[in-house]
Amino acid sequence: MTNLGEPVTWRATASCGPARTGVMSTPHGDVPTPNFMAVGTRATVRGIDATDLVTIGAEIVLANTYHLMLRPGDDVIAGLGGLHRFMGWDRPILTDSGGYQVLSLSPRITEDVLSFRSTYDGSAVELTPERAVAVQEHLGSDVAMVLDVPITLPSSRRETEEAMHRTLRWAERSKRAKTRSDRALFGIVQGGADPELRAISARETADIGFPGFGIGGLAVGESGEERVAAIEAVVPELPADAVRYVMGLGDTEGMLDAIARGVDLFDCVLPTRLARHGKALGRSGDLSIRRAEWARDPRPIEEGCPCPTCARYSRAYLRHLHQTKEMLGQRLITLHNLTYTYRLLADARASIADGSFASWRDAVVVGRREGVATTRD
Ligand SMILES: [Zn+2]
Repeated sequence: MTNLGEPVTWRATASCGPARTGVMSTPHGDVPTPNFMAVGTRATVRGIDATDLVTIGAEIVLANTYHLMLRPGDDVIAGLGGLHRFMGWDRPILTDSGGYQVLSLSPRITEDVLSFRSTYDGSAVELTPERAVAVQEHLGSDVAMVLDVPITLPSSRRETEEAMHRTLRWAERSKRAKTRSDRALFGIVQGGADPELRAISARETADIGFPGFGIGGLAVGESGEERVAAIEAVVPELPADAVRYVMGLGDTEGMLDAIARGVDLFDCVLPTRLARHGKALGRSGDLSIRRAEWARDPRPIEEGCPCPTCARYSRAYLRHLHQTKEMLGQRLITLHNLTYTYRLLADARASIADGSFASWRDAVVVGRREGVATTRD
């Protein structure tokens, strides 16, 4: 299957074993891969704006269909010129379809529709594959995701299989509902922790034909081995020139495991959520800014980090902001954690390009495991 004529394409620039680096071209510019999307649920990555995102090297962000269709409403955003203009961000945006967010609202799921109560005002809301596409086309995201069928873990094989087959039917409906030729739609592979179901889902989703594929239902509490087995079952079934995106994964070791198996794209709330809890990511292990030993420490979070926070502020200052619950503290650690994540993936790309990915990855994992243990509060 070729992706000629698609508004989003991917081409390889180098590979190192199954790991690969390349360029995802979108209507709002190119994204080097592997790459990471910060989560801007409500059209904002909490506490930092589009100017900050450019400064720290963000190339693409994720926004959330479910939240934006309810507040402020996709018609409002469309009327203001679309999501890029609304949030002041002129680089690529991917929107997730809402199925995952709805999962926590105990939805009623039929063949036709997901029904649930709005978290904002309790009103009844219905989401269909067709509506999810229409909302995302209103928002104008470069990449929309099909609506998939959420399952709660643990699920029986039968439940997992039924949700997987319904997701396939919904993917076909989503593709038929697409009206904008200037925006892309990605499929989503499901199948839980069962490699056999994963392979079937990947093959049949690929047969429907998409320029990229989310691998959904991972990073939800499965073991690292189960996740790797699922990814290894999926990747060979997908077209080589399509984007491979593990949804919801963003921890360092998990992303490196996935990149080693040919994954191109990630999103996760982890870097930003940890920041709000005073946890800073680092190459020599993660660091809790709450620790008393930083009270008089003039060093930055991480020596050599190019982020705006490490360039200017000490652990002592950041700890003080955290202790006094100043909002600036969360913002500054968010800037650091996202910078850390973007650098990690930039280094992964460079190591794939020069053929040293495996040894680079080992060094990162060992460095984090054996680095100064500072995660305790
Ligand atoms: Zn930093």
